[in-house]
Amino acid sequence: MTQKDLLLMTTPVRENVNIPYHDIGPTTSLPEISLVAGLHGDEINGTYILARLADFLRGIEAGEYPELKLKKRVLIVPAVNVLGINIRSRSWPFDKNDLNRMFPGSPHGETTQRIAYAVLEATKRSRYKIDLHSSSADFEELPQVRIYYPTEKEREGARRFGLTAIMERRPGPVFSTTLMNAWKVWPGESYLLTVGHAGNIQLYHCQEVFRALVTFLGRTGILEGVVLDEGEHGVFLFTRDHEQRVYAEQAGMFVSDSRVGRWVNKGQELGYIYDSFNGNVHTKVVAPATGLLTGIRRQPLLFEGDMLLRVCTKQPAA
Ligand SMILES: [Zn+2]
Repeated sequence: MTQKDLLLMTTPVRENVNIPYHDIGPTTSLPEISLVAGLHGDEINGTYILARLADFLRGIEAGEYPELKLKKRVLIVPAVNVLGINIRSRSWPFDKNDLNRMFPGSPHGETTQRIAYAVLEATKRSRYKIDLHSSSADFEELPQVRIYYPTEKEREGARRFGLTAIMERRPGPVFSTTLMNAWKVWPGESYLLTVGHAGNIQLYHCQEVFRALVTFLGRTGILEGVVLDEGEHGVFLFTRDHEQRVYAEQAGMFVSDSRVGRWVNKGQELGYIYDSFNGNVHTKVVAPATGLLTGIRRQPLLFEGDMLLRVCTKQPAA
């Protein structure tokens, strides 16, 4: 049996609640890689991707793919916020705490602190640690690898996913309480994958990230026999200096059929802001620079100052 419980919690009148995880591959050593999703219960892409990945790896273990061999132990937690996901809630439903603001957690604290502690304990000794997220329901992110004050090894290692965009981020003020920050004090490599937007599944993004994870497992030798596509695909490292953002100058309805992941030219039309009463276009939204469209607003209702889109340029701004 490879399904185990990360933590078992009792509830006042209902059944116990547990956080199940997959422990797949040879158990003679510590997990070589830990993959976590669903710290936020409404970010369904990550949960779907990791549940599918677990099914795939179990299939390999069962001999369904004779050409593939799992060489190392893999730990997968598809949904940490097991209650939030039932009701599409980002936070833990009982106390509305954000699980990704609870790290490093405590074994003696409140429920969400104990969950954070259990996640960290189970994963921190893995050589590779990967946390999957989505943007909010309002903003769609191109599937991307995010690295935070990375080591040189991580900056290089992020390329193994083969995803077009690697975003090097300077951590914000809440970063110190995240899983990623808690991982950073442990040896090894930590990556955050941001996939699409919350609220539903964007299948094309999920398929791309599933392939990226299998590629990563292949390139790190965890999974043997993966046919790696060694074609010359562009992988770009973007910092904040490569980003050009467009914000709404006035309220209205933002409508766009532009897809993230497209290379766009400066001045290219990417959407329109309509007056929500008379239907007139009051702003034509254009690409602020030539580059990769890495994020775009999907919630049409706008207030002044809302971010509409982000283009990343190949060269940093001078
Ligand atoms: Zn998240």
